[in-house]
Amino acid sequence: MNTQSTTVYRASILNFQSDPYPIVDGEAVLDNSAYQFYQDGALVIEDGKVQHVGEAHDVLATLPSDVEIVEYKDHLIIPGMIDTHIHYPQVEVIASYGEQLMDWLNNYTFPAEGQFEDKAYASNIANFFLDELLKCGTTTALVFGTVHKQSVEAFFEASEQRNTRMICGKVMMDRNAPDFLCDTPDASYDDSKSLIDTWHNKGRQLYAVTPRFAITSTHEQLQKAEQLLQEYPDVYMQTHISENKDEMAFVAELFPQAKDYLDVYDQYNLLGKRSVFAHGIHLNKREHQRLHETGSSVSFCPTSNLFLGSGLLDIQELEQHQVAYSIATDVGGGTSFSMLQTLSEAYKVTQMKGNKLSPLKSLYLATLGNAKTLQLDDKIGSFKTGNEADFVVLDFNSTAIMSLKQSKCKTLAEKLFAMIILGDDRAVEATYVAGTCVHKRDGKQ
Ligand SMILES: [Zn+2]
Repeated sequence: MNTQSTTVYRASILNFQSDPYPIVDGEAVLDNSAYQFYQDGALVIEDGKVQHVGEAHDVLATLPSDVEIVEYKDHLIIPGMIDTHIHYPQVEVIASYGEQLMDWLNNYTFPAEGQFEDKAYASNIANFFLDELLKCGTTTALVFGTVHKQSVEAFFEASEQRNTRMICGKVMMDRNAPDFLCDTPDASYDDSKSLIDTWHNKGRQLYAVTPRFAITSTHEQLQKAEQLLQEYPDVYMQTHISENKDEMAFVAELFPQAKDYLDVYDQYNLLGKRSVFAHGIHLNKREHQRLHETGSSVSFCPTSNLFLGSGLLDIQELEQHQVAYSIATDVGGGTSFSMLQTLSEAYKVTQMKGNKLSPLKSLYLATLGNAKTLQLDDKIGSFKTGNEADFVVLDFNSTAIMSLKQSKCKTLAEKLFAMIILGDDRAVEATYVAGTCVHKRDGKQ
């Protein structure tokens, strides 16, 4: 083995191989074989890829004595976290007071997105945004740009510099938005096509066809989205659905011929395994069935749903209908870039629905589960041999209260739960992208 490019990371390691709570006869049942946990583990990285993971004692015995070992005592290594719904141009919209979805878009979001016509502005925010994600241990995200083609160019350029695996798309919207944010069906097609040709599968970058939501696209534009997906079957499709009751009423008014909200997208063949629908709080049974049939997924955005007063998603209902779902921040409607904070809020929303979201399931969702909904589990989301080596080092002593609580935890589940509920960017000691350290925390507080 060429030890020049091999590094071993020694810490506690948690890695999922499948869903720890698969549904058996309609019930979620714990499967302990779904994950590996090594109290004293070793993660071997070679040329930016995962070579091996196991007990440190066993792994180190197989390696040359001079192999480089990076020790992270009292830390937990997990795969890089994945965020399946976020808007990079909404960085500055975060924490904007007092509105629900439609007014929040008109009063805060649309004016902010107008600034992305200026590519230099877009580049500044893209760099800030990516650094913020990495600080929180998120290494992959499915990201909205703005209507401006250059907003997505700026984003991919910034992502390419960091070698992060990111999925992004130019927003398509040609009505019910200010003139300065509207394109046309033809322009949205041409810009999207050009971005796909330039960026899709360039290094680690991937493209998503991005009609903002049914309200802001005409029939002609949704046809263009359909055409793009037909011409490029391996790109993604991202949009919003059933987030807010006023939004849903407006969609019903605009598309009187559709059976329901999902049917609007279905009429243009926008459903499928690479299609991610953000929110989906108020879906009906037919829509659940149709999402299941087509392998489409719903992205659960708890901090956003609470912040904008949109509603409480019932993940048990999704599970009962076998609808794939992932978890996401939805910044700037969402209030934190941290997936740990997002999982904490997901736990609380699930409590409000009378159910439980276990710590194992939560961390599965943030890693392998989210990778699966993006059809990327052959590349990221776990420490399978050959996977791209994106990983995060979490600190069990990141704050005084975290340290105190961890000292009282007796089981792995308790320790993970405390990490989720009390953790945020301060819990991220380091973040690695394709084997390279891209974030190191400055100091503990
Ligand atoms: Zn959103």
